[in-house]
Amino acid sequence: MAVLVESHATLGDAQRALGSDGTYLGGGTLVMREVNAGALQGRILRTSDPALRQIRPSLDSVEIGAGVTMAMILAERDLAHLHPVARAVGGPQVRVMATVGGNLFAVHPYGDLTVALLALGARVVSAGGAQRPIEDFLRERDRTGLVATVQVPRPREPRGFAFLKVSRVKPKGVSVLSVAAHLPRDGGRLRGVRIAFGAMGPTPLRAQAAERVLEGSALTPDLIARAAAAATDGLDPPTDALASAWYRREVAGVHLRRLLERML
Ligand SMILES: Cc1cc2nc3c(=O)[nH]c(=O)nc-3n(C[C@H](O)[C@H](O)[C@H](O)COP(=O)(O)OP(=O)(O)OC[C@H]3O[C@@H](n4cnc5c(N)ncnc54)[C@H](O)[C@@H]3O)c2cc1C
Repeated sequence: MAVLVESHATLGDAQRALGSDGTYLGGGTLVMREVNAGALQGRILRTSDPALRQIRPSLDSVEIGAGVTMAMILAERDLAHLHPVARAVGGPQVRVMATVGGNLFAVHPYGDLTVALLALGARVVSAGGAQRPIEDFLRERDRTGLVATVQVPRPREPRGFAFLKVSRVKPKGVSVLSVAAHLPRDGGRLRGVRIAFGAMGPTPLRAQAAERVLEGSALTPDLIARAAAAATDGLDPPTDALASAWYRREVAGVHLRRLLERML
């Protein structure tokens, strides 16, 4: 069967034309790999809708179009807190193509940016205008339709957000696991803690047991040790070619501790 590429003027037009047999093309780093391997055929839909490439900062959040690439994030001063995350996605050739929208749908071992967006408490806005918290989006992503933008809260303090990716191959390897933490402070105490892991389940997931340990307290080495001990409670990491579930459980707390120590 041949591949038929359809270009649409807007994301809304692409959404209406998608049907159950169409595949949307973002930057194509994953879709075109499947096409080239002969694993994906049929209708492929794309759009050059300029709205998808916009980054709109406001006082306490930044709205990022789904077609914004990792390279565009790296060029945007208002997204400086996401630079270490965007830099961790593939090599330079991947980063000029790989989009925010595609990352939201990328399955393990990919999706590093999505881990950061989950920790920051982003909201995902679909082509029809519906908005949902990113954890709801991740639970339903097979049936959410096309994504237009993500609204990403800005961390209030310079050390309020941190990200760490663990890979065997440096600097471009895929994640054995990744972890991001958002620790807003109120009068010296942590309020609204969010910690997210990649590669610890079928989609990026929050480490809610570790969050509960930190919530409402001042960040200290002792508290960090207790949060690290709870890192994988309630999580069910996979075994794959990169690492076993046992290994991921063993090292997740170590990496969470190192990440949180950077935020002291
Ligand atoms: C060599 C290589 C290295 C990589 N390394 C990493 C890495 O280190 N970390 C990482 O996270 N990823 C990595 N990736 C995976 C990938 O490049 C990224 O996850 C990227 O962000 C995917 O975006 P894309 O625009 O290329 O997606 P595409 O290939 O265009 O699409 C991927 C999926 O998302 C869907 N999609 C895309 N945009 C939208 C939208 N707006 N609305 C709804 N659905 C949409 C597509 O239909 C498709 O199902 C790598 C890929 C390659 C080839």
